[in-house]
Amino acid sequence: MNNNKKENIQLYSYVGSQEVFDSVDLKFTGYKISKSEDILNWIKKTAQELINDSVIATFIINENHELLINDRHSEHVQCAGGKNVISAGEISFLIEGKDKISISEISNQSTGYCPKPESWKFVNEVLSKLEIEYPNYFTVDFDFRFCTNCQTINLIKEHIFECQVCGNDLDSEWNFD
Ligand SMILES: [Zn+2]
Repeated sequence: MNNNKKENIQLYSYVGSQEVFDSVDLKFTGYKISKSEDILNWIKKTAQELINDSVIATFIINENHELLINDRHSEHVQCAGGKNVISAGEISFLIEGKDKISISEISNQSTGYCPKPESWKFVNEVLSKLEIEYPNYFTVDFDFRFCTNCQTINLIKEHIFECQVCGNDLDSEWNFD
């Protein structure tokens, strides 16, 4: 019985709209990143436009602890092929010179999965294997709560646990399970 490691890993299933879920095209799931050169290949392959030497992408970490990225305008559930994730958000790459790449910003902003800031632990584990410079923690981290009254997903700002749509009190703990 060596399940200790598994028990500590929270899986996030998709919590967004059914309409978006139904539109997932498995041909356009995320591009797997196992080393920093993969990011440069993805930028070329998908003809990403660099703005101020940077490109922003959607990312997810899948259940196999792999980093997958996709165009920033695509949904996280698309990137994940409809599957569960262990983290998700947005990631910014900075490209200096011809091929020096680093991660300048990263967040857990995904209203499709609403991952906890604590999922950083697994993001860190995956990024540490890419041989790339990256921030010590999410540069922007979000706390998500579900409003049980009006069924909307809220982003908690300034520790105010009140639904931005109906004013209902929100749970103090993460509540998407
Ligand atoms: Zn509400």
